[in-house]
Amino acid sequence: MSGPTPKRLKQFFCRRFGLGSYLRDPGDGRLRPQIPAETLLWAEMMGEFLREGSFHAVEALVRSPARRALGVQSGFGDDALAYFTERLDPQRMRQALASVLRQAKRKKAFESTRFIGLAPDGTRAARCRAPSCGFCHPVYGTDRKLLGYRHALSMISLVGADLSLPFDLEPYKVGESEYTASQRLLKRAVEHLGPRFAHYAVADGEYATAPWLHLVGELGLHAVARLKGNLPELYAAAQLRFVDTPPTRILHEGRDRVELWDADDFDPWENLRWPSVRVLRYPQYEPDGTALEAYWLTDWPTAQVSSPALYRMAKSRWEIENQGFNEAKTFHALEHIAHHHANSLLIRWLLILFVLTMERLYRLRYLHRGTHPRRTAIEFVRALRLSLGAPPFADTS
Ligand SMILES: [Zn+2]
Repeated sequence: MSGPTPKRLKQFFCRRFGLGSYLRDPGDGRLRPQIPAETLLWAEMMGEFLREGSFHAVEALVRSPARRALGVQSGFGDDALAYFTERLDPQRMRQALASVLRQAKRKKAFESTRFIGLAPDGTRAARCRAPSCGFCHPVYGTDRKLLGYRHALSMISLVGADLSLPFDLEPYKVGESEYTASQRLLKRAVEHLGPRFAHYAVADGEYATAPWLHLVGELGLHAVARLKGNLPELYAAAQLRFVDTPPTRILHEGRDRVELWDADDFDPWENLRWPSVRVLRYPQYEPDGTALEAYWLTDWPTAQVSSPALYRMAKSRWEIENQGFNEAKTFHALEHIAHHHANSLLIRWLLILFVLTMERLYRLRYLHRGTHPRRTAIEFVRALRLSLGAPPFADTS
């Protein structure tokens, strides 16, 4: 199996996912562009693939002897990227990324799973000392003393399909919460992916509210949400019901033993327009005896989704933390401010998701065909970096 190179990546995504038409017309808002949008956008994507996404790093790459191997037509400075990303259309990028997911589904990238999930969650991004953009939120200390500013965003990922693909995000406006931003995000996600693309939306306890659960249903999805003390009556009723009964099922997940309690006839709380609520409880015992316990609620009928399938949906929420936030922050410097401008920040955040998604589809589905073992993300990056020393390629895409 030949390794990844910029040329192979570009050909793969242009031929199979229609990326070429997006790269040629990504919604460039510059009035008199000197450098083609495709050159700047592809260079920035390659910077993220190589985990060198800061604008200074991209400038260094495109002004180095590796430029031709990267498939970048001309060198340019970091100021060109700043000017370009201030004016690039984020909506076009979101649509292009959703289109990659739709085509991945058409090409059966998720056929190993019956249920595709969408997981939204919020996180904090870069901090700064002075406000410079519309996404800078003040941070106060305990004595109401202003400590500085930070950015925050909701991200959404496809989960539960053995392949986590983060594909959109929504920064919080000043004064806004994760919960509000996530509602806009979920609506847009379903609009871009189309009806019946996914089957459920899974989220943490703060989303276990009637308005969120109703929104999920209106969008044609089932809801799976963590049940905690913020719903005291239902939480107490579930604890009381399960305390003296044997588990419904026992699972062995790797070296862990998981006991499941599952009942679908709990009363909905006052504002919830569901006929009844299904609650799943699991303690998960690790080999050393440590137990992790959680309660989840859902509107999935028992006849459609078994207790083990519901347990896996609940666990799929962790993908947005691990394969979403953690990887975006650790390997792609999500918290780094390349250029402090609201649209420029949004474009770079979206670009990180674009590259995480492309890298996983290429590495875990395309390179993984046949009997090859899965290549790790770091092996992939290393092979890509080494390919930059190879003879240059002629771009025929
Ligand atoms: Zn800002």
